[in-house]
Amino acid sequence: MISERVQRIRPSKTVEITSRVAELKQQGRSLIGFNVGEPDFSTPEHICRAAEEAMRQGFTKYTPVTGILELRRAIAEKLERENRVRYSVDEITIGAGAKQCILAALLAVCNPGDEVLIPYPCWVSYPELVKLTDGEPVMVPCREDFSLDIAAVRKAVTKRTKAVMINTPNNPTGAVYDRQSLEDLASLAVEHDFYIISDEVYEKFVYGGREHVSPASFSEEVKKLTILINGMSKTYAMTGWRIGYIAADREVIKAVNVLQGQMLSCVQSLSQKAAVAALAGTQEPLENMIREFESRRNYMRERLNQMPGISCMDAMGAFYLLADVRSFYGRNAGGAVIEDDGQMAKYLLEEAGIAVVPGNAFFAPGYLRFSYSNSMEQIEKGMDQMEQALKKLS
Ligand code: GLU
Repeated sequence: MISERVQRIRPSKTVEITSRVAELKQQGRSLIGFNVGEPDFSTPEHICRAAEEAMRQGFTKYTPVTGILELRRAIAEKLERENRVRYSVDEITIGAGAKQCILAALLAVCNPGDEVLIPYPCWVSYPELVKLTDGEPVMVPCREDFSLDIAAVRKAVTKRTKAVMINTPNNPTGAVYDRQSLEDLASLAVEHDFYIISDEVYEKFVYGGREHVSPASFSEEVKKLTILINGMSKTYAMTGWRIGYIAADREVIKAVNVLQGQMLSCVQSLSQKAAVAALAGTQEPLENMIREFESRRNYMRERLNQMPGISCMDAMGAFYLLADVRSFYGRNAGGAVIEDDGQMAKYLLEEAGIAVVPGNAFFAPGYLRFSYSNSMEQIEKGMDQMEQALKKLS
């Protein structure tokens, strides 16, 4: 009785593993989580207070489907100030997290059979969200260093190409696409008239002096073709508040609003007030979080690379490291032979007590994704335990 559409969709591995790890912890297993893709920091105090005040003032009813004007204004100001691109408030709409925004945007622009190019490794949900719209995900490999391969993207373009979906800084690779490759991508989009769906949720998490570039900032022409996706979850440690947004051409936003009116009515009212406070208030907690992530990144990457057989690229963004574990294939783990990244992840869970996500979930078989969204103390302990567990593999 279940629709073929849903039967075609893979369940989200990241969501599945997060639930499984939480369950194991509840059962008393002592595990160190490097699996979860959310900041381990608390939502800053002033943001929580804004929601509390809004609740006391009775701001607990439906809001406009577009999101409250105050929030769209704050987003427009942020986009101009930080991303150097001007949007009016009717070119912005609010959704229930970036994931829901991506689905709404895809539904707004894709016809059945339209192709959406997805450079990979990529986040688990992209191909599945495209499939939900009856579009065709077309997987395009990145270069070996996980940078954007424009030649490969060009080769994949057809008459049916509706969009390319990018994520920089990238989940799971941590790659930060440089300006030149984004400019080349933008030229291609203009030449062939397709959208760039630009998921920028990790924009703040760039290290070593690298910069995040929004393709929408290149020109009016490119802005018109860009569907910019962002949200509060990562930047302000607000994953549970579910606030994402889309900035795009008026026509796209209008179509999204029609859909959201039928699917969502509006986004949680208190969360919207909290998001206003996040954008307008002090950015100090964010700055501290970025600094902390950078030192964890440096430490974890060094530890991983010191382990014989593990190799880990110099990822400059997000809060993930993708480690190559292929050299362990064929090794014996207490009777069972390790044959893929799934078995390697399982071995580390059992033997080292650390939870990671197998790369195959992100179209990166042979790798494991390590999220350094955990305290330095836990990272040190987890790396020690992993080192010991790897030594037991014969
Ligand atoms: N984006 C995060 C991750 O990759 C959160 C979980 C999800 O929604 O996929 O782990």
